[in-house]
Amino acid sequence: MAQLTETGPGAAAPPGTTGNRISARIAAVAPSATLAVDAKAKALQAVGESVVGFGAGEPDFPTPKAVVAAAEAACREPRNHRYTPTAGLPELREAIAVKTRRDSGLEVAPGQVLVTNGGKQAVANAFAALCDPGDEVLVPAPYWTTYPEAIVLAGGVPVAVPTDAASGFRVSVDQLEAAWTPRTKVLLFVSPSNPTGAVYPKDEIEALGRWAVEHGIWVVTDEIYEHLVYGDAEHHSMPVVVPELADTCVVVNGVAKTYAMTGWRVGWMLGPADVIAAATNLQSHETSNVANVSQRAALAAVSGDLSAVTMMRQAFDRRRLTMHRMLNEIDGVDCLLPEGAFYAFPSVSGLYGRTLRGRTCSTSAELAELAIEEAKVAVVPGEAFGSPGYFRMSYALGDEDLVEGVSRLAGLFGTG
Ligand code: PMP
Repeated sequence: MAQLTETGPGAAAPPGTTGNRISARIAAVAPSATLAVDAKAKALQAVGESVVGFGAGEPDFPTPKAVVAAAEAACREPRNHRYTPTAGLPELREAIAVKTRRDSGLEVAPGQVLVTNGGKQAVANAFAALCDPGDEVLVPAPYWTTYPEAIVLAGGVPVAVPTDAASGFRVSVDQLEAAWTPRTKVLLFVSPSNPTGAVYPKDEIEALGRWAVEHGIWVVTDEIYEHLVYGDAEHHSMPVVVPELADTCVVVNGVAKTYAMTGWRVGWMLGPADVIAAATNLQSHETSNVANVSQRAALAAVSGDLSAVTMMRQAFDRRRLTMHRMLNEIDGVDCLLPEGAFYAFPSVSGLYGRTLRGRTCSTSAELAELAIEEAKVAVVPGEAFGSPGYFRMSYALGDEDLVEGVSRLAGLFGTG
């Protein structure tokens, strides 16, 4: 019987082939660090270890019952066992346009909506549709790990624009101006931010959007955390604040975070008709349509009310405050109060050089290793987001687990 060989790195290339088994383009893609941390935590849990996972970026709540019921009913109807149009079910595109008007005030026609396999595919589609080889994309750092990979795969060049805790992890017009070159084509913008939890106030969004318009730059704005803002923070959609962006802006969104639907894989991109048509052509060859039943579930979600996210927001807000307080009680850890999403992004460089359980760490990656090995606490090191010196810690986990996990870190880091 024929067998596929298990050739791995370092193995000799089979006769008649060159050494380049994997294309350079794909070999250069880094594994998703956030998914890797989550996998490591789950593997330890599977062998009976009590692991507290701050790695995953997903709500710990089940999908709302009404959404699940709509999916159950959809499963039973043979029409949902078929392909849908690539761009999505017409009624879902319509409902997304209505929901967008309701939630952010942005007016889009259903034809400007492309339903994608999660917000992640919307990000990939957007850069694929916009970037020619060598086009530069400004990416404020710390950044979600997927953005630079999607830009590179599209042939573009990600240009990180570093921010730090002193500026609340928000990028300024002056920084963008300094990073701009004649090759700059797109500004990536995300508020509330993964991984920092930063939320931009309206006047700053306006300044950044106007700067993009003045320079003839596209904006890809990721609004997936639009409903997860706390305290006085408010979400504002950049193309609503700066309507002149209407023809040069792509909005990325999805049901994952708002309705606890990460596993259903439904997102969307909104944009000018030509960009949506181009991205639809691309998607037609890559993935066809999003699973029909998942689209029916998403239709129930976006057509319903926002009570599920209101409940989750209250829980996340409580956990956010607990995590912020407890992290700042650890000597050597310094955490800004996150204003949105469900991540804290504490600085841990104050722990460098200390001897902890016989080890001396000088990077956040080493500290994260120490945390999983010695305290069975999973965090994502800042290296994954282009900003060493920090941890990203999701607070989308149960209150008791959260307290247990941060207490373990406090014990490990010496105050405990
Ligand atoms: N954008 C941001 C900023 C995210 O954090 C995520 C999920 N981690 C996504 C987009 C994509 O989410 P999904 O593909 O699950 O819809």
